Amino acid sequence: VKKIGVLTSGGDAQGMNAAVRAIVRMAIYRNCECFLIYDGYNGLIAGSSKIIKAKREDVSGFLTLGGTAIGTARCMEFREYEGRQKAALNIIKSGINALVVIGGDGSLTGADTLRSEWPSHVKDLLKDGKISESDAQTYTSLMIVGIVGSIDNDLTTTDITIGAHSALTRICEAIDALQSTAFSHHRAFVVEVMGRNCGWLALASAICTGADYVFIPEDPPRGEDWETRMCEALQNSRKAGKRTSMIIVAEGACDSNLNPIKVEYIKEILTQRLQYDTRVTILGHVQRGGSPNFRDRYIGTIQGAEAVEAILRADASTPSLIIGTLENKITAQPLKSAIIFTQQLAKEIKNKNFENAIKLRSPTFKK
Ligand code: ATP
Repeated sequence: VKKIGVLTSGGDAQGMNAAVRAIVRMAIYRNCECFLIYDGYNGLIAGSSKIIKAKREDVSGFLTLGGTAIGTARCMEFREYEGRQKAALNIIKSGINALVVIGGDGSLTGADTLRSEWPSHVKDLLKDGKISESDAQTYTSLMIVGIVGSIDNDLTTTDITIGAHSALTRICEAIDALQSTAFSHHRAFVVEVMGRNCGWLALASAICTGADYVFIPEDPPRGEDWETRMCEALQNSRKAGKRTSMIIVAEGACDSNLNPIKVEYIKEILTQRLQYDTRVTILGHVQRGGSPNFRDRYIGTIQGAEAVEAILRADASTPSLIIGTLENKITAQPLKSAIIFTQQLAKEIKNKNFENAIKLRSPTFKK
């Protein structure tokens, strides 16, 4: 019998609950057992009080809930070998032989590390007398399946990550609201949206709201004096009759020397050089809060169901998998491909190879 543990980890994202619900229900439907692991990797390290066998009704009403109902955490202990060994012991004690992790790239990297170390954890636990010989023979491998829950849409193994649609919807609503007050007073607004290494939310919201200027980490303003070019673009648009100026800044935006571009700095330029009545709005956590939209409920549900199917198809030679949706088709690809992509992108930005960063990112933008 497959015994599937499910946890959510890292930042919460709307639609994670839909995935958890689908995993529990699909697991039960397919005669598996399912365990809810509360508070991310902290729960896996804490053990039995946080690893609870799930019944169908335990996930009733989950579809419409924002955040993650089983809790999430950033767990420093899981970053260390010893912490992961405690998690391995609790996994074996609970009888779990497959784990679904719903989180961002950090959470998925942690899960992949646990899997690659699994034989040595089992060996150490046996040597220390923490598990029996028969346990060591039963738990020879741990299947890992990842689902990307992240409002940033920052992985290419899926067209869209769970939570990104709801966050984008919320940003558009907020910017629409700002547009009406900006229009009344001829104001400029500089709006900071989430996205540390990924400008998808900023770029997509700029497209959807018709913003005048956007700053994203992958494509910093090039060359000297980008400030003057920005001012000219805004002035031209005012000359053409526009009453407002809307500038969207990803929280991780930087210039081509990797100096952060902050909303207050943009405000200063617009106020001093153009004498625009300029306001700053940092949207913050409203972007990830609240009920998921239909799309996140939908992809959370189909990806959760597919995670269970992928576990049932897997054998010991199957690599850790990541579930995604590419060109409207559900996919299960090696988890490593997602992790390598994230590491490569961070490296390209750090080395100021922005052309490469855009090329890497472009499949996500294109689709
Ligand atoms: P978000 O995109 O919202 O930031 P994330 O999953 O990337 O989500 P992180 O804070 O990077 O968020 O990771 C969540 C947790 O996953 C960490 O607190 C840690 O427990 C585990 N984790 C992250 N990176 C690693 C790693 N390299 N090795 C082991 N565990 C890790």
